[in-house]
Amino acid sequence: MLKLDFHPAGRHFLQIPGPSPVPDRILNAISRPTIDHRGPEFGALGLQVLEGIKKIFKTEQPVVIYPASGTGAWEAALSNTLSPGDTVLMYETGHFATLWKKMAEALGLKPEFLGLPGIEGWRYGVQADLIEERLRKDAHHLIKAVCVVHNETSTGVTSDIAAVRKAIDAAGHPALLLVDTISGLASAEYKHDDWGVDVTVSGSQKGLMLPPGISFNAISEKAMAASKSAKLPRAFWDWTDIVEMNKSGYWPYTPNTNLLYGLYEALDMILGEGLDNVFARHQRLAEACRAAVNTWGLEIQCADPAVYSPVLTGVMTPAGFDADLIRKVIYENFNMSLGTGLGKMKGRMFRIGHLGEASDLTLMATLAGCEMGLKLAGVPLAGSGVLAAMDALSAQKVPSLRQAA
Ligand SMILES: *Cc1c(COP(=O)(O)O)cnc(C)c1O
Repeated sequence: MLKLDFHPAGRHFLQIPGPSPVPDRILNAISRPTIDHRGPEFGALGLQVLEGIKKIFKTEQPVVIYPASGTGAWEAALSNTLSPGDTVLMYETGHFATLWKKMAEALGLKPEFLGLPGIEGWRYGVQADLIEERLRKDAHHLIKAVCVVHNETSTGVTSDIAAVRKAIDAAGHPALLLVDTISGLASAEYKHDDWGVDVTVSGSQKGLMLPPGISFNAISEKAMAASKSAKLPRAFWDWTDIVEMNKSGYWPYTPNTNLLYGLYEALDMILGEGLDNVFARHQRLAEACRAAVNTWGLEIQCADPAVYSPVLTGVMTPAGFDADLIRKVIYENFNMSLGTGLGKMKGRMFRIGHLGEASDLTLMATLAGCEMGLKLAGVPLAGSGVLAAMDALSAQKVPSLRQAA
């Protein structure tokens, strides 16, 4: 029998920017009995989730669903479209962009890493003009793909993907556009078709509110055509058989049946609320969170207000305060997990997730936990962020005037 020695009262506050808390509706859906993935009942489920997920990506093109974490879908995007030795232009927004670049190297591609210099570079979004400038110099079109991260989860910066598309077109360059929106999808506005993205990569455990375990590739016609001649070795990740079998709602291998029940439920929740309402809710919570951080007198990692993330807020800790020690104080005293600083930002920041099923009161509890923990850790605060966030949230609420009949 597994023995756990840490059983605090109440539900754990999982306020990392993914996995995000899984709503009860989804947990209940997942708990249904597993069915035959070749039987008639499954085909209907398969067709419905494959159709529904397109609405979230805003695409009419095929979306492939893998029983894998987001990292698998990264590999699928690269290995289906590129050949050994291909040059790819990748943009350094933060830790996740860096990991994707490492993967490209491991697969035998030649990534070129573009970005603003130093640690400061991790505080800004993709600079589309740098991409345009680089592509203009590539007269022989050696660059086969441009890879960018839409919502950089390590920093809390959301880049302008439409601007990247424009930059590629302005340079008259045929490179494919591959975008990671693993943490942006269903939380921040995203338009696979309108923005002319060739492959969009996403995952289940962030805005979609599912447990980890499934991930996605949305595929343009151009990317599908590129896959016919792409030479990187691939078998499990190969789109061809999956897309063919998906036409009848099935997979060439055993898909993640129970997570697909969860996906069906998540789609119903998100489309029921309305995508635009979901995005507005995230923007509103993010704004209140930033009001708290500003009032504490702490610095927000994202240095460009135009690209603040609606998904998470990166909070930099003052010199001399290890962000991971503050996270530990908060975990041990208040049963809440916050995101750690990743890569270059290790120990220098923590990340507050406000994505998925986040609401006014889950945000308020989160900020209260942060404020109490910061005080316990001895961090000097300029004011009460909790009060500032309450003001920000309640200022926009309209009292109900409805009378009892
Ligand atoms: C979470 C995340 C990943 C990694 O996904 P896994 O599911 O952990 O493999 C990659 N990119 C971004 C932007 C992410 O937020």
